[in-house]
Amino acid sequence: MIPFLDMKSVYAELKPELDAAYHRVMESGWFVLGKEVEAFEAEYAAFCGTKHCVGLANGLEALEMVLRAWDIGPGDEVIVPSNTYIATWLAVTAVGATVVPVEPTPAGPNIDPERIEAALTPRTKAIMPVHLYGEPADMDAIVALAAKRGIRVIEDVAQAQGAKVRGRRVGSLGDAGAHSFFPSKNIGAFGDGGAVTTDDPKIAERLRTMRNYGSKVKYVNLERGFNSRLDELQAAFLRAKLPRLDAWNERRRLIAARYDDKLAGIPGLGLPRVPQWAEPVWHLYVVRTKRRADVVKALEKAGIGSLIHYPIPPHLQEAYADLKQGKGSFPLAEELAETVLSLPMGPHMPAEAVDEVASAIRSVLS
Ligand SMILES: *Cc1c(COP(=O)(O)O)cnc(C)c1O
Repeated sequence: MIPFLDMKSVYAELKPELDAAYHRVMESGWFVLGKEVEAFEAEYAAFCGTKHCVGLANGLEALEMVLRAWDIGPGDEVIVPSNTYIATWLAVTAVGATVVPVEPTPAGPNIDPERIEAALTPRTKAIMPVHLYGEPADMDAIVALAAKRGIRVIEDVAQAQGAKVRGRRVGSLGDAGAHSFFPSKNIGAFGDGGAVTTDDPKIAERLRTMRNYGSKVKYVNLERGFNSRLDELQAAFLRAKLPRLDAWNERRRLIAARYDDKLAGIPGLGLPRVPQWAEPVWHLYVVRTKRRADVVKALEKAGIGSLIHYPIPPHLQEAYADLKQGKGSFPLAEELAETVLSLPMGPHMPAEAVDEVASAIRSVLS
């Protein structure tokens, strides 16, 4: 049996550190907005290469709260990828702004900067690139375009913690980065968590107020805020994991390289093609095939897990039926939804498991 994602080995690897973190918080008697969150924020900002980090309850609210902190709302437009997880869109529509979807590059999976320019209008306030599957979007081109037009860039870093573009970490490349610590992400909590990284002290300060009911001084409310706080226990666990993140991402790279090697030359199978300038962190290893159903069935029979990220693009979801962007509106995103398949991946996956997955796929497609 090869699971899609091994969620148990991390505890086996880090038990002493995680247990110590648990005891530290339990014995402190302090569970919300305390020393652990403060320390994690400093450590994670240093890791990402930003001046500030603000711990929040989850990745979706991290995206939404940055838009609110920029006063983006009804009448404003935000450029989003047509090919993404629905959270990216939900953040934009939650503040009442309009999503303007832009198709991925032909090699995929990320937003195509060449198509962004044509989608800009005088109402465009921000671009929200997503580093999907752990592969950085073309930030040099996106940031240059945004600077020329005087609009902001918020990176959706949920799938790409630790990834780099020309040596610089994602989350430090735009005006703000929104991170998720959902358990399955490259660095995950044991529950929900999120953060925003930024160099802008004003935005960091506003988010600190916003996450705590819009309050700086207890029971004095400056704005209509959220309850969106990273809790002490999760912050303590994340602090135990952060020193391992680069090594875990390196293990993912080795797994991806082995997949590249073992899956090469299989007819009808498209492998991920990462641009030269990108250092991805392989949140997912995603192949493409028109015979996806056959492959999934063969993997299942061999006891191998796989998942589809994502089977329905946001514009075809019931949730966005009111936008009336029917089938055919974003053909590249639609084609990806019909052909992508995520193979088992993770820092604790043994190399031999890659060989087993590859041979199961080869035997069905050859
Ligand atoms: C996971 C994810 C999110 C949302 O993060 P949560 O912490 O689950 O709210 C946003 N965007 C992308 C691309 C994601 O994969």
